[in-house]
Amino acid sequence: MRESEPNGENPVDSGISPSQEPVRRGIDAATDVVHRILTTKKSERLFSRAAATIPGGVNSPVRAFGAVGGCPVYVGRGKGSRLWDVDGNEYLDFVCSWGPLILGHAREEVVEAVRRAAEKGTSFGANTEVEVEFAELIASIVPSVEMIRMVNSGTEATMSAVRLARGVTGRPKVVKFDGCYHGHGDGFLIKAGSGVLTLGIPGSPGITEGAAADTLVASFNDIESVRRLLDAHDQEIAAIIVEPVMGNAGVIPPEPGFLQQLRDLADDGRMLLIFDEVITGFRVAPGGAQELYGVTPDLTCLGKIIGGGLPVGAFGGRREIMEHLAPIGPVYQAGTLSGNPLAMSAGLETVRILQRDDVYTKLEELGARLEAGMNENIKRLGLPYTVNRVGSMLSLFFVDGAVRRFSDTAAADTSAFARYFAEMLSRGIYFAPSAFEAGFVSAAHSVEDIDRAVEACFKSLQAVG
Ligand SMILES: *Cc1c(COP(=O)(O)O)cnc(C)c1O
Repeated sequence: MRESEPNGENPVDSGISPSQEPVRRGIDAATDVVHRILTTKKSERLFSRAAATIPGGVNSPVRAFGAVGGCPVYVGRGKGSRLWDVDGNEYLDFVCSWGPLILGHAREEVVEAVRRAAEKGTSFGANTEVEVEFAELIASIVPSVEMIRMVNSGTEATMSAVRLARGVTGRPKVVKFDGCYHGHGDGFLIKAGSGVLTLGIPGSPGITEGAAADTLVASFNDIESVRRLLDAHDQEIAAIIVEPVMGNAGVIPPEPGFLQQLRDLADDGRMLLIFDEVITGFRVAPGGAQELYGVTPDLTCLGKIIGGGLPVGAFGGRREIMEHLAPIGPVYQAGTLSGNPLAMSAGLETVRILQRDDVYTKLEELGARLEAGMNENIKRLGLPYTVNRVGSMLSLFFVDGAVRRFSDTAAADTSAFARYFAEMLSRGIYFAPSAFEAGFVSAAHSVEDIDRAVEACFKSLQAVG
């Protein structure tokens, strides 16, 4: 069971509380498995050096492997569907940098686009042609986007979109959903997914009561929970922000009608509907979940894929809303490196390839094959686990029964997951080191890659029992 109460130990250290003995045993067993099979000397040396100067040894918490044990992987290089750690171990990569690498690692055209851009200068803090081309291209593909502003991360995109919504509506509060992750902006860390969830942090110190009070939390796929909040806070709510497919508590698809009901409620209450498509944008369809499910939000947050592996975020929407932004409107938002030519070039090349090749058909086939293979494994071994998938994003929940709401993930056997993760890693299959993160298939994966992962999954599940 996941810890939901604060505990004495700093959860960032280990990701578990002392009371979670079974989880700790799972992690210890997992660490043994990895050490039996993989050499991790160089990674270990780097990790201990890092711990002296970087908090927890990492620049983003989940990378520390706290929830699964063992030494985090230090990556030397990646190519296509594979990456190699500094000790020379090879992995089939289903993390794909947590989503951005829809074309796999070091895709030649993307590398070439970055190289060409770098040769002309890496940053100007001035306008470039490539940012205009990219803005036009995104606006032509993503249904809700008439205008778009580039930023440097998904976190910045959601923070800016919410500020804009508040500026436009003149209202303070925002409705979010339990288990959704929108980056690490103060108001978003209440009941968030991703690392906040993995590490069992119930929120975060450093967030003011004011920020917490302006965040209202509803339950995904439970429209009544939204209605109740809207009724209780009439005229106070600026926006509803949602991951249209939950991707940071594992993958949880929206139930039929849920997104449309959000659209209707937002319209009735004259608040904005914001889709955080930082994962789903250009992932579940070229135009994201809004294209896939046919529901158009007022504002859309993008990131990950549109950076082609470089740091990027963006937010866009209807013209009359976006024109509230400085310098033509009063809502301030800015960035020294925003629209950076390297990031724009990598993103533009990536999106052009996505448009040119029939990538989404292939991704659907590979995703379906992985899902079917995992389900077959689960059935053959008589396990109660469950797989959720939307296109090329997928997760295996160590939960007995269907996972339709965030609350269903609370029963996840994180101890079994830790051992499973180690078994997979030791077989050269790299999924996210958390029971609550999505796995991603890229266009660089082959049918053979998928079959290898399915076979490793069978043996790993068998070993975990
Ligand atoms: C990753 C993510 C973010 C944050 O993006 P960063 O680039 O990590 O700041 C926001 N929203 C969603 C849905 C994400 O998956």
